[in-house]
Amino acid sequence: MKAVQITAPNIVGMADVAMPQMGAGEVMVKIEYVGFCGSDLNTFLGRNPMVKLPVIPGHEVGAVIEAVGEGVPETLQPGMTVTLNPYTNCGKCAACRNGRVNACQYNETLGVQRSGVMAEYAVLPWQKIIPAEGISVRDCALIEPMSVGFHAVSRAAVDDNDTVMVIGCGMVGLGAVVRAALRGATVIAVDLDDEKLALAQRVGATHVINSAKENVHERIAELTAGLGADVVIEAVGHPSTYVMAVDEVAFTGRVVCIGYAKSEVAFQTKLFVQKELDIRGSRNAMPSDFRAVIRYMQSGAFPAEEFISRIIEPTQADEALNEWAEAPGKVFRILVKF
Ligand SMILES: [Zn+2]
Ligand SMILES: [Zn+2]
Repeated sequence: MKAVQITAPNIVGMADVAMPQMGAGEVMVKIEYVGFCGSDLNTFLGRNPMVKLPVIPGHEVGAVIEAVGEGVPETLQPGMTVTLNPYTNCGKCAACRNGRVNACQYNETLGVQRSGVMAEYAVLPWQKIIPAEGISVRDCALIEPMSVGFHAVSRAAVDDNDTVMVIGCGMVGLGAVVRAALRGATVIAVDLDDEKLALAQRVGATHVINSAKENVHERIAELTAGLGADVVIEAVGHPSTYVMAVDEVAFTGRVVCIGYAKSEVAFQTKLFVQKELDIRGSRNAMPSDFRAVIRYMQSGAFPAEEFISRIIEPTQADEALNEWAEAPGKVFRILVKF
């Protein structure tokens, strides 16, 4: 079968790989759409230390069940539209023992620590198949990145009394905006790009701040009566936005970290103490986060087209990744159609 493969930094093309074999307890899916994640872009650019090349990228999937193996529950049937849970969990590490399987120490995400699914077919254990009734197979490819943003909001235990500042309005940050708004919070979205901020507003942000043009500290003070945000979600991964998160959070607030900073960050640690902060990491997503995204998308409120920058053929991966690398702030999701 055909697959997209990254063979070396800046080299991506088509590969012919063996059809996966389905065993008991497994499901074969026909892949229809796969989104390129930021982690796939980093792999392409040779900046993803977790990946060993060559690799088939891809873990954001819209697919249709092709066949089910022996012992698979009847709730999964051929023809159903599904997405995939692309993570694994070992069952033995501290995270797994605490039931927080999304943060398994030995997690292997599809297309990162193990071969991904940017290919015509894939076989996975039935537990990793997530039915998404009432959602188009195209939009299913957007569920996983949204669910990562949803998870950050549940890590922060956001409720309707909270003012939530979300720094970074890419796919994941906007997922956080959506979930915080669904929970009734007042949401302040921050980004450098006016188009992204307009979309943040459309999906639930109450206020937006363009950090390239406005003084973020003054605006946050103005919007929170000088108190700061109860919750700050960092969804950029830059040292300056990490520092901004700790500066703009209210006393006794919560900071949730999703972004991966590629260098060390210097903090005034007295702020952790004086403000008595809760600083919480947020990694991947739980099955409940996937379900919450699916429920939101089923409601019809999700403007999916706005999140899809481009749909390409598998053979156009090279061109699309180069284009994305040149304007990383301008692209939401590029979907590959199989
Ligand atoms: Zn991803
Ligand atoms: Zn584990």
